[in-house]
Amino acid sequence: MEIKELGEFGLIDRLTGDIQPQHSSTVLGIGDDCAILEMGSQQTLVTSDILLEGVHFNLEYVPLKHLGWKAIAVNISDIVAMGGVPSQVIVDLGISARFRVEDMEELYAGMKAACAHYDVDLVGGDTTASVNGLTIAITAIGHVTKGKAIRRSGAKKNDLICCTGNLGAAYMGLQLLERERQAGSSDAQSQAAFEGHEYILQRQLKPEARIDVIRDLRKAGIQPTAMMDISDGLSSELIHICQASHVGCDVYADKLPVDYDSAKMAEEMNLDIVTCALNGGEDYELLFTIDQKDYEKIIPVEDVHIIGYIQDEADGCNLVTREGNEIPLRAQGYVGM
Ligand code: ADP
Ligand code: MG
Repeated sequence: MEIKELGEFGLIDRLTGDIQPQHSSTVLGIGDDCAILEMGSQQTLVTSDILLEGVHFNLEYVPLKHLGWKAIAVNISDIVAMGGVPSQVIVDLGISARFRVEDMEELYAGMKAACAHYDVDLVGGDTTASVNGLTIAITAIGHVTKGKAIRRSGAKKNDLICCTGNLGAAYMGLQLLERERQAGSSDAQSQAAFEGHEYILQRQLKPEARIDVIRDLRKAGIQPTAMMDISDGLSSELIHICQASHVGCDVYADKLPVDYDSAKMAEEMNLDIVTCALNGGEDYELLFTIDQKDYEKIIPVEDVHIIGYIQDEADGCNLVTREGNEIPLRAQGYVGM
């Protein structure tokens, strides 16, 4: 169905008609000029991300349903990266005439699945026609106990540097998708090339916000001194934390967590897996620092790896190679397609 058959209001109804707020902090959801939220005595966290077709995603290989999931998940990840609990999202869309009602329903199916998974309410948005392509802007809202938000600026000398999960997998997934696109592979050829690489593809197409780690850290009684999520790549995020905290760091190449399929794919593509782990983006894992006194407490926390430690600002931000050489980290901001 063409969107103009429904019109703006018809489309909004079609996409959002079945949305029922679940959170006690959502006093009023979709349907009025504003949503009404009530966060009690907690501090409110607000973050926004914009996704442009052709810049941040390529619909030649990204299914709309996955895109919807990812758009929500990456915003939730920002709330989580402050140690917060996400509770609401707002979705703004610019839609060109090439999209049909069914396309937008696919997008919303992914967004609704993510909202259900992360237990957040979709409480509003804006919808407009655009000249070219699809634009998705999402705002996420969450809350945190007063004074407990984990900023980038709190890392201190001798803190341990930790990261969750593994790194470089989303980047390797992107390389595989791009390789098939550039080769002009048929669906059947791509399917064959993708076989056995479901993990890295999923890491690229359907990232997870590590809300589970925030819960586990809280259970373990650990309050990280600094934290952020890894969207642009480990090097770049480490440098952000160090600059904000006025410290330096050493991270160890042989401590960087890498998944087997990522390493295999890197070898196949003649890429250095350590470079991919350092500079590949979009893993949405958490990077954080903890006080040394929390060392015993962090050991049993699942899926957390200690990769280095914080030092003086004057020592700089370095990678210690397998051979024991120190090389300065470089920020290579990552531009996903
Ligand atoms: P306004 O004229 O006040 O901007 P709209 O007609 O744009 O109101 O929106 C009507 C209601 O639908 C509002 O509650 C708004 O938040 C919601 N809404 C609009 N677009 C979207 C969307 N893409 N997703 C979710 N809710 C939306
Ligand atoms: Mg509007």
